Amino acid sequence: MHKRIAFWLAFMALTILVSSAWAATPSIVNVNLLNLRSGPGQSFRVLGTLGRNTALVVVGASGEWRQVVTSDGKSGWVFGQHLVEGPRLGTVARAVAVDVARLNVRQGPGMGYPIVTVAERGQSLRVTGNVGEWLEVQTADWQGYVYGDFVTEDRTPPKSTATTGVSLARVTASALNLRAGEGTEFPVITLLTQGTLVAVLASGPWSQVMLENGTVGFVSESYIAMVSGQASVRVDASAVNQRRGPGTSFPVIATHRAGQVIAFTGRDGDWVRVSSAAGEGYMLGSFLSFVFLSPEVPAQARPVQRDLLGFRVAIDAGHGGSDPGAIAANGLRESDVNLRMALKLRTLLQDAGAEVYMTRTADVRPTLEARIAVAHDNQADVFVSIHNNAFPLTEVSGTKTFFGVTPGSLRLGQAVHRRLVALGLRDRGVHSANFRVLQTTVVPTILTETAFLTNPGDAALLADENFINRAVEAHFAGIREFLLGRGQISLRTGANP
Ligand SMILES: [Zn+2]
Repeated sequence: MHKRIAFWLAFMALTILVSSAWAATPSIVNVNLLNLRSGPGQSFRVLGTLGRNTALVVVGASGEWRQVVTSDGKSGWVFGQHLVEGPRLGTVARAVAVDVARLNVRQGPGMGYPIVTVAERGQSLRVTGNVGEWLEVQTADWQGYVYGDFVTEDRTPPKSTATTGVSLARVTASALNLRAGEGTEFPVITLLTQGTLVAVLASGPWSQVMLENGTVGFVSESYIAMVSGQASVRVDASAVNQRRGPGTSFPVIATHRAGQVIAFTGRDGDWVRVSSAAGEGYMLGSFLSFVFLSPEVPAQARPVQRDLLGFRVAIDAGHGGSDPGAIAANGLRESDVNLRMALKLRTLLQDAGAEVYMTRTADVRPTLEARIAVAHDNQADVFVSIHNNAFPLTEVSGTKTFFGVTPGSLRLGQAVHRRLVALGLRDRGVHSANFRVLQTTVVPTILTETAFLTNPGDAALLADENFINRAVEAHFAGIREFLLGRGQISLRTGANP
């Protein structure tokens, strides 16, 4: 990793010396008076002084010194610590076409900046940011600013840059050790099952691979087979910068929004190399999740449809720890039944490719806030709280489903409830309720009550593994229908399949 950083530093230094390819960074003077000098050091002649809040662009660097051009076209060197980055706004990288016969490209975001070059009508420019009305644009040959009114959105797809992408492979052994190093003497990190997709970071007798959860390790090359497909990253934070190099000191070349999917091309420690419309760059891995997709069906793997890839489900097993919830006459505790159902549901969802976040996986009692936070912190697509019912009169029985205030909750509730009542218990309907999780969760949320522990017939079913499995499958099928239906609605502009 250090070698690579050294390479990047050397590359950046070379760039400054030989060309104007340095990305001009809009900045502002943050001292009252700043000397503009003829060279990078105290010994160089003072050309003038710049007042606080003077807007300029940084076009080069030498040690602590920055080569700048001011908005009225003056250029020189200033001490870098007296600058702060200006009000540059990142933007989703996109292409625009020049809409006037000749368009001046300037060194900074203003009429006063020197002209770098002139772009011709129809020329395609890559937008990497903006400062007010000015767009930060670049081509393969130059970088600069143009006034936004003189370009239009380019409909032709941007040329793809030469990319050494990451290959995908599938595990062919029924169980394969992922190890910490290249050899059987290294400890096992985890066990991979047949059909698991991995991204191959480096191939060899021991290939370095990455799992979809980001874990990196080594596997014997004999037990994986290359498959077609695409390894991507999905942006998890509201906005994540793509930088020219693997570190925060590198300039930002694009900003990607939550949910965007970008081609994954490699890794450098905590930094993930990506290829977007803005070109090759690096993003901090902690704000991303990986998505591996291959159209090839795994050979001899069990026929699980992984059509929930990319979806996130938060599951809450109600009660727990000091709070057992309802207790049946046969001794069955609601908290235990809920957890058993939740863990089984997790398995079904994970097998289908979904990412599952549990509020608890043991007999503990998280607060309601902590349970809700599991859905929110992980940006879950849905939140499903699993309960079972109780009532003072033992003859009351049946299935009841509650839905939250967030849009989509009712449809999710109906999808699950319809399948639950198909198991044969009395249909007690789908309802709203004043429960905390239903009122405050901002993702589609339901709370299911599959059966009544206080009813002897229902309680007997809840003690039956076979019934539990069917109830869990009903939850799974309803959640799946909701997630897939929603995805298709957005793609097909309203047509609900
Ligand atoms: Zn309960």
